[in-house]
Amino acid sequence: MAEPTTTPQFKVRVVKDYTVFCAGHFITYEGDKCESLHGHNYRAAASVEGDLNSDFYVLDFSVLKKLLRGLCDQLDHKMLVPLHNPRLTVEAGPDEVLLRYGAKRYIFPRSDTLLLPIPNTTAEQLAEWIGGELERALRERGAAGLRALEVEVEESFGQAAACRRTL
Ligand SMILES: [Zn+2]
Repeated sequence: MAEPTTTPQFKVRVVKDYTVFCAGHFITYEGDKCESLHGHNYRAAASVEGDLNSDFYVLDFSVLKKLLRGLCDQLDHKMLVPLHNPRLTVEAGPDEVLLRYGAKRYIFPRSDTLLLPIPNTTAEQLAEWIGGELERALRERGAAGLRALEVEVEESFGQAAACRRTL
């Protein structure tokens, strides 16, 4: 029998019952529309592609689980506020965050909000933000031999967006 000629590629993925976050948000869309304030029970998954290390794994599962859990905890029980939405004005004071969209005004306690450097709190943009933070954390740990990182954010059952980045 001939040996396989293809090169195997490896990927690890984590999604656990604790990689979840319950958060409030609204998105703006189609130019002049703005959703009503609502929330989701989000679930995040992360996968990493790369070479096998000398112990024959891509990345320690416990490392990936811990990092993803930490990011989910940051998002949990927060009002998610996008800082880079041109249609939304955000005034963040020490105690309160004031949002304006047209004639709508929202005021939240600062401690209940998470200000995110993204234009809209879509599942895609949340996946991108989580992926960026994960990439930074992995680089800080000196993780070597990684080729790609993908984060998936499910905002309701069977409805998810993913963001993949090449490392
Ligand atoms: Zn929503």
